[in-house]
Amino acid sequence: MAQWEHHGPYWKWLGVNTVQAIFTTRQGGISDPPYDTLNLSFNMPDQPQAVLENRTRALSWLGASLDQLVMAEQVHKALVSWVGESDAPAGARSSAGAISGADGLLTRSSDIVLGMGFADCVPIFLADEAGTIGGLLHAGWRGTVQGVQVEAIAQLIEQGIAPHDLHVGIGPSIGPCCYEVDERVAQAFREAMGSDAPLVTSMKPGHYQLDLWTANRRRLEQAGVRPDRIDVAGVCTACHRDQFFSHRRDAGRTGRMGGYLWLKK
Ligand SMILES: [Zn+2]
Repeated sequence: MAQWEHHGPYWKWLGVNTVQAIFTTRQGGISDPPYDTLNLSFNMPDQPQAVLENRTRALSWLGASLDQLVMAEQVHKALVSWVGESDAPAGARSSAGAISGADGLLTRSSDIVLGMGFADCVPIFLADEAGTIGGLLHAGWRGTVQGVQVEAIAQLIEQGIAPHDLHVGIGPSIGPCCYEVDERVAQAFREAMGSDAPLVTSMKPGHYQLDLWTANRRRLEQAGVRPDRIDVAGVCTACHRDQFFSHRRDAGRTGRMGGYLWLKK
């Protein structure tokens, strides 16, 4: 977990000095069970006023406000959108208005904060060495297979950013310890990654333990990111009930952590 530091209610990615990037825990908010306490999503039957207060608190840990927030819709696909000042606030005060169809956001703006919700899916933070561009991606198994990370790198290359100039942080998410998948998911990974697919036969016949951290690392490395510039937190959301919500562990009745990235000047 080099380059990831735990600060009370959040984890901080230290990949690029000038870039503020945090992944929240479930601690430090006001929501009631099963969304206790720092649920950051409006997409579940939690009190909207509680979510607003929780988001305000989480952004304050960055020194930012709701007016700066740009959220993505997150539909488990691989669409990556460039956003800027004119997009904010998008989806900050309700789920309406989030950037439509996007599972990845890229920006050059130092005025806005990129945000997404997570409860096991992999948060991927990106920035170039100089801290002039930043990105935030949502990669569950579908986004990982469809290549949301490869799409983001391709769009950065189009803008003149070389992959070897990037730093990437892979935040807390479900680990290979807890992520059992069926043959259908395993086959999708074999088709996308061949023998690189990080699958281990599970105790349960026809099932596998899938390592989404390694899958995303391998896809990023193949797209040209330097292995020593990919920082994997290696912290499993399903293993730590006191610290994280987990969609898998809690059978869907749970809240969402937040990933936030700001190219703060
Ligand atoms: Zn685990």
